Amino acid sequence: MKKKSAWEKLSPEEREESYRVGEKYKSFLNSVKTEWEAIRYAEKVLEGKAHKIFKLKDRIIGIALRGELPLREGLRIVAAHVDAPRIDLKVHPLYEKHGIALFETHYYGGIKKYQWMNVPLALHGKIVKEDGRIIEWKIGEEEGDPAFAIPDLEPHLASKQMEKRASEFIEGETLDIVVGNIPLEEEKEEKERVKLNILKILKEKYGVEEEDFVSSDIEAVPAYASRDIGFDKSMVGGYGQDDRICAFAGIEALLRVEKPKHPILLILADREEIGSFGITGLESNILRRWMVELLEDWEGNSSNLTLEETLWKSKAISADVHAAVDPLFEEVHELKNSALLGYGITISRFTGVRGKAGGSEADAEFTAWIRKLFNENNVPWQAAELGKVDEGGGGTVAKFLARFGIEVIDCGPPLLSMHSPFEISSKADLFSAIKGYKVFFES
Ligand code: MN
Ligand code: MN
Repeated sequence: MKKKSAWEKLSPEEREESYRVGEKYKSFLNSVKTEWEAIRYAEKVLEGKAHKIFKLKDRIIGIALRGELPLREGLRIVAAHVDAPRIDLKVHPLYEKHGIALFETHYYGGIKKYQWMNVPLALHGKIVKEDGRIIEWKIGEEEGDPAFAIPDLEPHLASKQMEKRASEFIEGETLDIVVGNIPLEEEKEEKERVKLNILKILKEKYGVEEEDFVSSDIEAVPAYASRDIGFDKSMVGGYGQDDRICAFAGIEALLRVEKPKHPILLILADREEIGSFGITGLESNILRRWMVELLEDWEGNSSNLTLEETLWKSKAISADVHAAVDPLFEEVHELKNSALLGYGITISRFTGVRGKAGGSEADAEFTAWIRKLFNENNVPWQAAELGKVDEGGGGTVAKFLARFGIEVIDCGPPLLSMHSPFEISSKADLFSAIKGYKVFFES
């Protein structure tokens, strides 16, 4: 099958729109680097359009629109996730060693640890005091803010390090963040005076005490802004595009929807990168709970039978990114069945590993339905598998929708450098995703 670039499939107006949307997308990526920032963005942008918004703790959101048909005829659901790989602080993060104050960390999600060294980091966080008061951090994003960093060993002293395997040469416990270097003036007798000085700054500037870290969510994320990539400015480089590119596309699609036939639900979920576990992940029963409430609210009937009927008649897109063929590492892909950057939204019938284990493969019937929908509406798309058979694999939220009887298939833009601090996407693929999700919402 001969593939054609999405840039060639889009009309001249659509190509222009891809660049315009790319600008909006970059500012979205710059202002949204955590789950709660994404949830608040979605809520603000869609408030005027939504008929019902479900939210749990700024970490998962469901945005519903009425359709012409009643709920029991099924919904059109797009589910993306807004958590991204990052470096979390431990509950007792602050310590001092050799005159330097550092934060202990625990990485979140699947990362190649060495990629996070020597990267300017910002600290985004919620520190919750015992009385429930929340102190919010967003340090390192503004001009004049300090940034933070994890220093790597200089080549001069790295001959032993360089002999180690890449999976071992930076260990989890090595990923600690430098946060200070000046000893506290007073209390000359004390030992850890750099640490004490940081504690003093934390208290005076932010009202944060050492024990407060126990009840905080603080995420170290790349401090830099997203950028156009390439002479043709066809791509976007930036942090957190898995899966905020789909979250953004879902929001943009919802904004463009007019008169949907079926009711619509856009879900932006948390915890996907660690298996969707926890009350704000889709492995929980939150979707069922929302459905009961929606049925009761809109139709005054949330009987078990109506609920089951609603779920079983619903169709969903698991909106998540795919791996684009990396020209520098093409050997991990089976090229006839891989996604190319800039060739449109990727239909991925299953996620999982080895013999398709752990996934929820979309059947041929549903795949034909989505293919027809995209073809009839000139949505640039491609179909692919993630890497060669037995090369690795991954998972998405698809199976957590499928277990309710919802027909689901993965559709999202391919990325280069997925899970790195600087992922690369194509503006044409982003536009294809917006268009694809919109026609799905309206189907
Ligand atoms: Mn993802
Ligand atoms: Mn991921």
